[in-house]
Amino acid sequence: MSLGELYREVIMDHSHHPRNRRRIEDADVTIGLDNPSCGDEIVLDLTVEGGVIRDVAYEGEGCTISMAAASMMTEATRGMTLGEAKDLIERYKAMLMGHDGETDDLGELAFLKGVTQFPMRVKCAVLAFTALEKGIHEIEGESDHGQA
Ligand code: ZN
Repeated sequence: MSLGELYREVIMDHSHHPRNRRRIEDADVTIGLDNPSCGDEIVLDLTVEGGVIRDVAYEGEGCTISMAAASMMTEATRGMTLGEAKDLIERYKAMLMGHDGETDDLGELAFLKGVTQFPMRVKCAVLAFTALEKGIHEIEGESDHGQA
């Protein structure tokens, strides 16, 4: 697979029609992350209600892979419980590290498996998921202190 072929698979329509590329005004958590090795930047907004991701959205600038992965991530995780989202993040990262058998139930995200052939780009594909992971961690940290 060439990088061009990977782009065509990943792009599908996510880079042309990004999902949830916006800010959430009353977000519970906002996480800013960058990937200096490529120059990708993302700001992730997350709203959680009753342990369920009510809304998740991103803004950012970066390469096709980082932005398409962010778009796919928001679409895949909205409506999930925090536990389901953490499980998805774990399986997605395992897929990108080349572990076979982890792509079941990843749906569209399985298109990004080709990134494993381009180790420098794995960080691009992971950026939005790491941001979500940090956001969930912050929210769970808050709830440990007795808030909803
Ligand atoms: Zn990138």
